[in-house]
Amino acid sequence: MTDQTTGGDVRLTGISKTYGSFTAVHPLDLTVPQGSFFALLGASGCGKTTTLRMIAGLEDPTTGTISLGDRDVTDLPPYKRPVNTVFQSYALFPHMDISENIAFGLRRRGIKSVKKQVDDMLELVQLGDKAHHKPHQLSGGQQQRVAVARALINHPQVLLLDEPLGALDLKLRRQMQLELKRIQTEVGITFVHVTHDQEEAMTMADQVAVMNGGRVEQLGAPADLYENPRTTFVANFLGTSNLIGAEVLETGSDVVVSAGGATLRLPGDRCTDAVRTGGGLLVGVRPEKISLTHADDADTIAGGRNRVTGRIADSSFIGVSTQYVVDSPAGAGLQVYEQNIERDARLVPGAEVVLHWNPAHTFGLDADQDID
Ligand code: ATP
Repeated sequence: MTDQTTGGDVRLTGISKTYGSFTAVHPLDLTVPQGSFFALLGASGCGKTTTLRMIAGLEDPTTGTISLGDRDVTDLPPYKRPVNTVFQSYALFPHMDISENIAFGLRRRGIKSVKKQVDDMLELVQLGDKAHHKPHQLSGGQQQRVAVARALINHPQVLLLDEPLGALDLKLRRQMQLELKRIQTEVGITFVHVTHDQEEAMTMADQVAVMNGGRVEQLGAPADLYENPRTTFVANFLGTSNLIGAEVLETGSDVVVSAGGATLRLPGDRCTDAVRTGGGLLVGVRPEKISLTHADDADTIAGGRNRVTGRIADSSFIGVSTQYVVDSPAGAGLQVYEQNIERDARLVPGAEVVLHWNPAHTFGLDADQDID
């Protein structure tokens, strides 16, 4: 039997897909490291499912090659690829019990003694007590776990997941995200997961490829993408970014910019190339990185922080944090999330405040980039 954990990386080289004159996926190069949990993330229509289907062999690429380890699988039909797919519509066989559903792939290949493998799979997905239930007696999340077990029992080198949690309600989705991550860690094979939900991708994946308009805009670990987006699309898709138009005053290991009368500093390595060479600039900072201090207390703010003056336009207490909207000369509608604070009676709409944050948490984007 193939050792599942030595299948090698999934490598897409110059892979593209056109339908008539429409290009769903522009030529892309992508390496999915063996044993990683990899997410293809993007809005509807960005080409993520098409990319996944090309890996599965369900769609022929227009150009390019796909390899698993050192094996070129581009021309192999789906059933000859060491790959299995779990779809959103997991379509279990309703007349079979859970054990029989899981055993299906083995039985179809003529394997008779399946009990041990089925029991192992039931244990892996923590459904040992449901072995003889019918699918309709299980919750949506449990049925999805059966679908995962049914795919994994075939010992694929790569498991492809196409929006597998899309049909579940939010709470169940969150539970299943952790569950899928646990299963992936336990079996150690490569998972490639398609989702439009940035929180889902960030929760589960080691590496995320953010797709937009048939292209990968940025690839990286979730925290890197969040903290250091390289395009406005990525910055906005992965949360709230507070983008402020600015002019470059000085470049170097730190970049100094002017924004709405404020002078801000940011690390040179968190700026795109165009910014370092003095192009148009958007400065970004995440809402939870910003602190608010009443303007009367501005002298209590530590030195070296970026500061912008503003006026509270709106505030809402949402339990874990207080969310403020602040208008400032640098930009209207800046978002600030403050956690674990005593609610300061003076930070009410109309209050004059200083927004301040550590320059290290600032990123710089090219304002003139071509975004779809
Ligand atoms: P969703 O989350 O909605 O499934 P997606 O990012 O997975 O979106 P794809 O399904 O990969 O997007 O589709 C990418 C683009 O290619 C879409 O504009 C889609 O309409 C188009 N497309 C997909 N399959 C075909 C096809 N068989 N013929 C023509 N166009 C297609």
